[in-house]
Formats: sequence, structure tokens, C-alpha cells
Amino acid sequence: MSLLEFDDVYQSYGDEEVLKGITASMDRGDVEVVIGPSGSGKSTLLRCVNRLTDIDSGDIRLDGTSIYDRDENDLRRQVGMVFQDFNLFAHLTALENVTLGLRRVRGFTKEEARADAHDHLERVGLADQADSYPAELSGGQKQRVGIARALAMDPELMLFDEPTSALDPELVGEVVSVMRDLADEGMTMLVVTHEMGFARSTASRLTFMDDGKLVEQGPPDRLFEAPEHERTARFLRRLT
Ligand code: ADP
Ligand code: MG
Repeated sequence: MSLLEFDDVYQSYGDEEVLKGITASMDRGDVEVVIGPSGSGKSTLLRCVNRLTDIDSGDIRLDGTSIYDRDENDLRRQVGMVFQDFNLFAHLTALENVTLGLRRVRGFTKEEARADAHDHLERVGLADQADSYPAELSGGQKQRVGIARALAMDPELMLFDEPTSALDPELVGEVVSVMRDLADEGMTMLVVTHEMGFARSTASRLTFMDDGKLVEQGPPDRLFEAPEHERTARFLRRLT
């Protein structure tokens, strides 16, 4: 059974229809990279999965069950999200940013949460920055804290919305490297990114989205070398 399924999903903000009939599915362990022009609905697609945005019609199923038949807090625990602008709490240390959910959502004691948070910071190479505040960290380090925080919830699926777009070019690599490790460990990942190096090396499938529709999907090499749609070809030419 697929881990994640979109079944004819439509979504709009007021009069503006953004998602126009999305049907797709992902299996466990898949790494799906979504690319497409600004405004094509990529962020909206991700936000619908953990119900930050409601859909108008169709359905989204996680592990065979509609996300609307699930407890919202359970859903947010099972689906981790990493944002372009990190969304860290500025008044909390790196460690505290990770322990917060462990205590509130997973019910860990203070000691359990600290130990587990340390393990997750170690996993993203930041054990030595546990007591630093976001303002003391580089963008790449902040994003790795964001990833550790999402991983601490022990999610089944990770959503990444342009995780490296706010970073200086020299800091992109450290975040991409953590994402590659995660993929190698078998994490199911739905990633919006323009990092074509990551897509080519790691994606099991590349999807080109335009104007609220999934225009074309396939193995990254196939899309790069032999796109079927002119719109895909034009977009990829501009990226590479
Ligand atoms: P992408 O991530 O591909 O750039 P988005 O999903 O962010 O696209 O946006 C798709 C469309 O929806 C855009 O036209 C955008 O202006 C609009 N939109 C996004 N978020 C909102 C919102 N909260 N309220 C109203 N319109 C929105
Ligand atoms: Mg976006």
C-alpha cells in the first residue's frame, strides 16, 4: 500500500484555484522532488498534507487513512515539515527547540527529552551547538536544527519546502548532505527544491508542477534528458 496518496485534490484561496486535480502516490522510502515555477502551488501541496491548509475536494490518504479521519496532532507528529525560513523559536536554544515537541507532543520527561534531542542534534552534526541560540547559528546550522526538530517526532514522512532557498550558497551543501543521509536511511521524503544536484543524486522521482497540476513525473535522468512536455523542458533549461 502507498504511504501517501493524493486523490483528485482541488484547493483554492478565495476565488483563486491553486491545486487543480492532483492525483499521485508515494511508497515508503520514496524520495520525491517537486519543481516548478513560483506560484505553481508547490508549498500549498505540502501544506495540505499536514492540514496547515484545507482542501476543497478530493482526498489525501496517509497509510490508507484519510488525513481528515485522523487526529490532527497525530498527523502533525507523523508528518514532519521543514520550512524555508527555519521557523525556530528565537528565545530557545537549539536543544530546547528540539525538546519542546518531545515534551509536549510525545510526553517525554525533561531528562528523556534532553537525551533524545541530543541524539537528534548529533544526527545532523550539531551536538556541539546544543546550547546556542538561533541568532548564534549560521543559516545552515539553523536549518539542521529544524530538521532535527522534525526528526525528533519520529515521523513516517518528511516534507521539505525549499529548505536551502534562504541559505548562502556555501551553506547549501551541509543541509543537502543531511537530507541525503536521511534518504539513505530510508526516510520517505517529499521535497520542493531547486537543488538539481540533490534531485539527480537522490530523488527516486522528479515531478514538474505548473499552474496547480502535476505536468510530468519520472526518474530524474529521464526528465532531464528526455522531457515529454515542452513546459518541463523550458523550465529545466532555465534551472541548469
Ligand atoms: P509555490 O510554492 O509553487 O510558489 P504557493 O503554493 O505558495 O506556490 O502559491 C500558489 C498560489 O496561491 C499563488 O498564487 C499564491 O499567491 C497563492 N497563495 C499562497 N498562499 C496563500 C494564502 N495563504 N492566501 C492566499 N493566497 C495564497
Ligand atoms: Mg513555495
